[in-house]
Amino acid sequence: MTKQSKLAQGRSYLAIPGPSVMPDAVLSAMHRAAPNIYEGELVEMMPALAAGLKRVARTDRHVAMYISNGHGAWEAALSNVIAPGDRVLVLATGRFGHGWAEMATGLGAEVEILDFGRNAPIDLAQVAERLKADTGHQIKAVMAVHVDTSSSVRNDVPGLRRLLDEAGHPALLMADCIASLGCERFEMDAWGVDVMVTASQKGLMVPPGMAFVFFNDRAEEVRARLPRVSRYWDWSPRAHAEEFYQYHGGTAPTHHLYGLRAALDIIHEEGIEQVWQRHATLARAVWAACEAWSAEGSLRFNIEDRALRSHAVTALRLQAPHATELRDWVQSNLGLTLGVGLGMALPGEPAWHGFFRLGHMGHVNGHMIMGLLGGIEAGLCALKIDHGPGALQTAAEVIGGA
Ligand SMILES: *Cc1c(COP(=O)(O)O)cnc(C)c1O
Repeated sequence: MTKQSKLAQGRSYLAIPGPSVMPDAVLSAMHRAAPNIYEGELVEMMPALAAGLKRVARTDRHVAMYISNGHGAWEAALSNVIAPGDRVLVLATGRFGHGWAEMATGLGAEVEILDFGRNAPIDLAQVAERLKADTGHQIKAVMAVHVDTSSSVRNDVPGLRRLLDEAGHPALLMADCIASLGCERFEMDAWGVDVMVTASQKGLMVPPGMAFVFFNDRAEEVRARLPRVSRYWDWSPRAHAEEFYQYHGGTAPTHHLYGLRAALDIIHEEGIEQVWQRHATLARAVWAACEAWSAEGSLRFNIEDRALRSHAVTALRLQAPHATELRDWVQSNLGLTLGVGLGMALPGEPAWHGFFRLGHMGHVNGHMIMGLLGGIEAGLCALKIDHGPGALQTAAEVIGGA
């Protein structure tokens, strides 16, 4: 690690794809004495909190809350709709698709993976073929990651619903929106998603520690037919709580709930459409800069086609070991932390040092993104890493023209 420079002093900036930057309003909402968990404000705020979450997910159906991270949400969702021996079809476009598949394996599902690699989205034609071949409807669920945070590809979720409908296939459509909810357009009801999972620490801007499973009535019927459901992961008492403790299967995550309330207020005050728009514009600024840098030297996008890229995270390559050198430099000299590459190489391999990611999700605005890009430019210059000119100018034009 480089010697700590004087320029790192000040407010640090974590520009990784989760946990994301937390708004001061979220932090101060959490900074309070232990609240009463039997009556009063905390208990009374739950219905509005659930309603606020559903508004972000664009559903009027059900939400269950868990004290867990995203991995817990994966397991929670599967625990309610998959029995051992059930077949699930996982559409993998990066590390997180495989991670969800591993959860299903752990629960005894027959897991079938269609792997589209690390640089491409789900190929709907291949999925259509597989669904048509499943005439006996052995596949109980199709599991897809909306934005795979490792590859930064965005998948066509409504396209999957269309395929299922065209094939007359009854499998549940399950979506992982952990990286995308509150960042990119997602319409649970309109897109016909049966089960959706997300977590608190990305677009929702709350510290890691809460996760959410949204489900519709079709999924609830599947749940009702399962021979047994793990008591702790069972979404029914959580989504239809009559007593406060049922929302959380025990003691509530008291401070997270206050943080979440503040975060939902911020999101709904801005308006979800505007939240998506902001992310789209900031992503275009990031891409514009990266495109300029990539005109010379070794910087490359993991996903070439803009239309397929996430608005919340950008996965990049830089001749090893420059990616690690750049991350180290901006962290120790500027107080700016970039994301490591994930799922592209193993941490011990030399290739590991050629991947990195930029998180631009949640509580980020124009000056932060310009700061992020300016910090990278400074690092590229300081380290004498070959790159094309004009990145900041072109990013500024995107931001200025928005
Ligand atoms: C972050 C993330 C996860 C895992 O969430 P954890 O909170 O780290 O368990 C799963 N899927 C996607 C798409 C993610 O971005």
